[in-house]
Amino acid sequence: MTEKYSLKQSADKKLSKNFTVKEFACKDKSDTVYIDTALVSLLQRLRRILKKPITINSAYRTKAYNEKIGGAKSSYHCKGQAADIVCSGKTILQIARTLEALGAKGIIMYTKSNFVHTDTRSRKYFAKNNGKPEEVSTFFNTVTKNSTQNQIKGVQERLKAKGFYKGKIDGIWGAQTEYALKSFQKKNKLSTDGICGAESWGKLYI
Ligand SMILES: [Zn+2]
Repeated sequence: MTEKYSLKQSADKKLSKNFTVKEFACKDKSDTVYIDTALVSLLQRLRRILKKPITINSAYRTKAYNEKIGGAKSSYHCKGQAADIVCSGKTILQIARTLEALGAKGIIMYTKSNFVHTDTRSRKYFAKNNGKPEEVSTFFNTVTKNSTQNQIKGVQERLKAKGFYKGKIDGIWGAQTEYALKSFQKKNKLSTDGICGAESWGKLYI
């Protein structure tokens, strides 16, 4: 649901634990600010998991301002449904993956300018943009027994954190790792294929 605020009256109004109205205001200082409550909720959940302040570079944009900066025509920013964000100490890949795990539908990782755009659109659209957008199905790598040691370590670490793996974080895909992953998949009602793909990562990552 999109709410309308006045920057003059509500600049410091708290929308959630860590976000205020002024952070979502248009950079042209327009008084009216539109903010989707679902976007605030998404950013607050992201904040809680990353445990670091999130800086909003741009959220609501008036049509005039959006045109001025060359934004997309039917930009979600103009509806108060989008935010361009960074988080100190976290890479844009970590931000994108956390958003994916949280179930965000719109995620664009701007690899050149180093920020993440997220929005509350209803149909999934994930992309990497390095000048022009390239659609992707997930921000996670599929990890199998044939993956690199570091990738396998990443899976072992998360399985351990979730209490499914008791062995060493050695990057070796043994019977213990496979069993732990399959148990985790079963518990989460995923197909127990022993392959760590986007769905398993989504549950493992946060
Ligand atoms: Zn954006």
